[in-house]
Amino acid sequence: KVKRSGKNGFRFFDAELNAHHRQRVTLENDLHNALERNEFELHFQPQVSMAGRRVVGMEALLRWNHPLHGQIGPAVFIPVAEEMGLITDISRWVLDRSCHQLMRWRDSGHTDLRMSLNLSPHDFDRAGMVDEVLAAVTRYRIPPAQLELEITESMMMQDTEGAAAKVQALRAAGLGVAIDDFGTGYSSLSYLQKFPVSCLKIDRSFVGDLYGPALNPIISAITGIARGFGLQLIAEGVEQAEQVEVLRSLGCDVMQGYYFAHPAAAAEAEQWLQTPPCAML
Ligand code: C2E
Ligand code: MG
Ligand code: MG
Ligand code: MG
Repeated sequence: KVKRSGKNGFRFFDAELNAHHRQRVTLENDLHNALERNEFELHFQPQVSMAGRRVVGMEALLRWNHPLHGQIGPAVFIPVAEEMGLITDISRWVLDRSCHQLMRWRDSGHTDLRMSLNLSPHDFDRAGMVDEVLAAVTRYRIPPAQLELEITESMMMQDTEGAAAKVQALRAAGLGVAIDDFGTGYSSLSYLQKFPVSCLKIDRSFVGDLYGPALNPIISAITGIARGFGLQLIAEGVEQAEQVEVLRSLGCDVMQGYYFAHPAAAAEAEQWLQTPPCAML
């Protein structure tokens, strides 16, 4: 931890480090107040079924509308929030707001829409996490199967037994659990027996490697794993029509990516529920 006591301490830094440090301290201060100042916002990106020609789910993605710096993405501030111990409150806010939004969409007739949200490793470490999720689905009258929590392979590898017990508890209560960025971590296939997840999300780095009609061996392997374990499958980072065709030919039906829609605020995302993104038609 860097000393924050007294401005004179900064004299010992060289100019660049000083500037970087000041930026970081400012970011931390601002992040402290962001929740109560209502600066966070959820964006939603549709998950589309090509066979069904419709939006089957939405992934909630967090944004920070900074009063001076504009919109900041989660890759920048989530790691800082984790270090500062702010992530728990932020995650609770994400859980509450995404469930609230799902309730509203369900109430307006989209009764089988699914909502996915991302958990941080710190959420997964917390003993009360499962109960908080169950309380949220009850509070917003959400059928548990319509809420999906995204975890990563590294979360499965830390405290494997505790993590597996949480996945089991969530699944036993009927919730969905997806492995995000699947194939990029160091977990072994045997984890799929220990962790009764319901969905694999093919990482966008593999999807990005697809070009033309080439059959990508990693993607066909992952589709085979999903089929073998009876898991749902979502391809993320789909940006081109060619990728859609290859993924479909490999048996992957549900997709997410800029080709269909960029993540957007609720009002805009809602339109995709009425009229699917035009790239699907
Ligand atoms: P992720 O869960 O893998 O989310 C997918 C990321 O890829 C999102 O970036 C999304 O905007 C972006 N994306 C979607 N389609 C495309 C595409 O076609 N091409 C490319 N190049 N990118 C695409 P975003 O929103 O910046 O989020 C980054 C990461 O931050 C997420 O990765 C997730 O790990 C984390 N994150 C987002 N929201 C939350 C949250 O509420 N809580 C926590 N703990 N983490 C979050
Ligand atoms: Mg995700
Ligand atoms: Mg991720
Ligand atoms: Mg991902």
